[in-house]
Amino acid sequence: MTDALGTDALGTDAPEGPRAAELAGAMAALERRLVAACASAGRGRHEVTLVAVSKTRPASDAALLVALGQRDLGESRDQEAAPKALTLAAAGTDVVWHFVGRLQRNKARSVASYSAVVHSLDRVALAAPLVRGAADAGRTPPVVLVQVSLDGDPARGGVRPADVAALAGAAADAGLDVRGVMAVAPLGQAPRTAFARLAAVAADLRREHPAATWISAGMSGDLEAAIAEGATHVRVGTALFGSRPPVSH
Ligand SMILES: *Cc1c(COP(=O)(O)O)cnc(C)c1O
Repeated sequence: MTDALGTDALGTDAPEGPRAAELAGAMAALERRLVAACASAGRGRHEVTLVAVSKTRPASDAALLVALGQRDLGESRDQEAAPKALTLAAAGTDVVWHFVGRLQRNKARSVASYSAVVHSLDRVALAAPLVRGAADAGRTPPVVLVQVSLDGDPARGGVRPADVAALAGAAADAGLDVRGVMAVAPLGQAPRTAFARLAAVAADLRREHPAATWISAGMSGDLEAAIAEGATHVRVGTALFGSRPPVSH
C-alpha cells in the first residue's frame, strides 16, 4: 500500500515512475544472476558486494538506484564523479562511492574527497595525494585495491603480478588501507582463466597483508566467472542501467 507521497506501509520511500520501474526490474534480474552465481560457486550471496557503476548516467539514475536499496556506486572519471557525488550528498543521499577507473595523479586528491574505496591503485605516486585529499576532506584515507594487469598491457591500467607486493607495501607505508586487488579480464582470453590468475595474485598478497581479502573482478558480461574464482566485489554498469553511449572512457 502506498499513499499519495509514495510512502508504503513500512514507512520506506519506494521511488515511482517509469525509470524507477525499469531500474527495479534490472536490479531484480541482476540479483537473480548473483544468487545463481554464488550458489553454483558454493558461496554465500553475502560474500559478494555489488558495486553499481553509474558512469555516464545522470545523478538522477544513481539516486533512484540508492532509493531502491543499492548502497555502493562506482565511477571511473573524477570530472564526472565529483559533481555527481556532490549532487547526491546535497540531497542527503547516503552513498559509498567506489572509484574504479584509471586515476590521474592530479585527480587523486579530489577522488579521495568523496571515495570510500579506490579500486585502481597502479602506482605509488597516487598514495600521498590520496592520503592528503582524504585528510583535507576530513575523511579517513580510502581503502585501496591494487589494480593488476593480467595481460601486461599497460594501456588498460594495472601493474604486473610481480609488482603487486612492492606497490602494496609502499601504499601501506604511505598510510593507505590496502585491502586487496582488482582486475579487468583481458580481451581475447577466457575470463575464468584470467580471474583464476588474479585469485593466485590475491593469495600471494595476503601472505604479506593478511587484511587484503578483497578481490574486485567481474562486470556485466563475466560476473559469473569472477564469482566462481572468488570475487568479493563485482562492478556492474550495463546490466543495471542499459548500454552506454559509445564513448571511450
Ligand atoms: C565501466 C566499468 C565497469 C562496468 O562495466 P559493464 O560492462 O558496463 O558492467 C566495471 N569496471 C570498470 C573498471 C569500468 O570502467
